Amino acid sequence: MRETIFPLWNDSDIESNLTVCEFPENDSVRPAILVVPGGGYGGVCRSTEGDPIAARFAGLGFRTFILHYRVAPNRFPIPQQDILRAIRMIRYNAEAWRIYPDQLAVCGFSAGGHLCASSGIIPDDVENYSDDVIDKMPGRPNAMLLAYPVITSGKYAHKGSFQNLLGKDYAKRKREFSLETRVTKESAPAFIWHTVEDQAVPVENSYLLSEAMRKNGVVHELHIFPCGPHGMQLGYGRADIAQWPEQAAAFLYGTLGFTRADRPEKPRTVVLTFDDACKSHLENVAPILKKYGFNATFFICRFNDEWRKKNQKHLLTGKEIKELSDMGFEIGNHTWNHPDLKTLSEAEISEEIGKLNDFFAENGIPKPVSFAYPGGPFAENAVPVLKKHGLIAARTTEQVPWNLKKHDLMQTPSFPLQKNSPHAFYFSLGGADANNVPVLLFHGVPDLVHEWVDTAPEFFAKCMKYLYDNDYRVISMKQYLEENGLC
Ligand SMILES: [Zn+2]
Repeated sequence: MRETIFPLWNDSDIESNLTVCEFPENDSVRPAILVVPGGGYGGVCRSTEGDPIAARFAGLGFRTFILHYRVAPNRFPIPQQDILRAIRMIRYNAEAWRIYPDQLAVCGFSAGGHLCASSGIIPDDVENYSDDVIDKMPGRPNAMLLAYPVITSGKYAHKGSFQNLLGKDYAKRKREFSLETRVTKESAPAFIWHTVEDQAVPVENSYLLSEAMRKNGVVHELHIFPCGPHGMQLGYGRADIAQWPEQAAAFLYGTLGFTRADRPEKPRTVVLTFDDACKSHLENVAPILKKYGFNATFFICRFNDEWRKKNQKHLLTGKEIKELSDMGFEIGNHTWNHPDLKTLSEAEISEEIGKLNDFFAENGIPKPVSFAYPGGPFAENAVPVLKKHGLIAARTTEQVPWNLKKHDLMQTPSFPLQKNSPHAFYFSLGGADANNVPVLLFHGVPDLVHEWVDTAPEFFAKCMKYLYDNDYRVISMKQYLEENGLC
């Protein structure tokens, strides 16, 4: 498709428009970036903060768009209506323009940053200009990339931008548009960068926004470069600033889970583990894993008699564990009673492991080769006992990918995932490559007895779909050991 310019509105007197940058026919579906040049709400610097930026992000795997919005003497809400209309138009045309409608970032410079931040922070303040099918689409972007943005109308304001945006209402309404005061937990995640030397839009604009996002729990990344004036765009050859598009792309792909169009040649591997023998492992987890052809290790424990009596209905029975085993999943040893191994003697540790192995044998479940330390941390005193029981690898909770060249098998690291945090999930996958294999650790899905490690079934389903959609190979600990000739 050639570069095409679409008017934003049906009314032909309105000059604002959306450029859809050129892309090959039948190209893969990609995340979208809408580039919004600055100009103090008095102009639109398309040649410097439009086309070159779009070209750069196209090279990083994104489908790119450029907004031409109306500026002074047009006042609020006109520029805001333009950006929201552009976002909705891109989503409405998701199929034709081959984008993921829920992976759309706006990328704004200076006052264009204020306009982008308006779309991500106060979209509900902007009344719809028209009411057609496009206006039915959601307006808030999924992420904001903000370069030396205008944010505050307070002490550190770039006054001219607010005067242009508000005209005669400037004094009366400027506080409403000091966006650091408007951040809520619904605000779009942001990647923000600024230079300390910026004389036009003080760096405090970015500090204030970052602080407000931190207070409201909004995921964001902030880069401050010591040198450089306002309007550094792609860095003008400065090695430090020139990296920001790559860093922004890493934020979108790595922290927010945007989909890469270019996949690695060799599929990446993830090891999946589940702890504490929750009933939901058989009811909710196993069917999803089967659907995607994934394998996993289930670490079983029984807890003490009193606990077991009270929580029977949440704990897998021997027969149910055998069922998981028969489905092809690995069953691992997590001790009988889930004690702190550091406080036990070798004989006591041996009893903990042996008792569970006997229970497995009674139920026709193969003798385990994988172990998980109860509670998570490595217990050095247990190592000789684990080896005596034929255990080959033991899982800790050090949050780095498993690397067979680096890690002793008795200290296999993993990423505990709880609180349904998508960012923690994407973060855990960040280092995956040919030699680095993230081991993910879930508890119950849901976990009705240990609510501090609970995972919601909907969140879990999303995680598994993400692994499947992104071509990850999902296996058990034992399978990874076998593939490497260790078992
Ligand atoms: Zn446990």
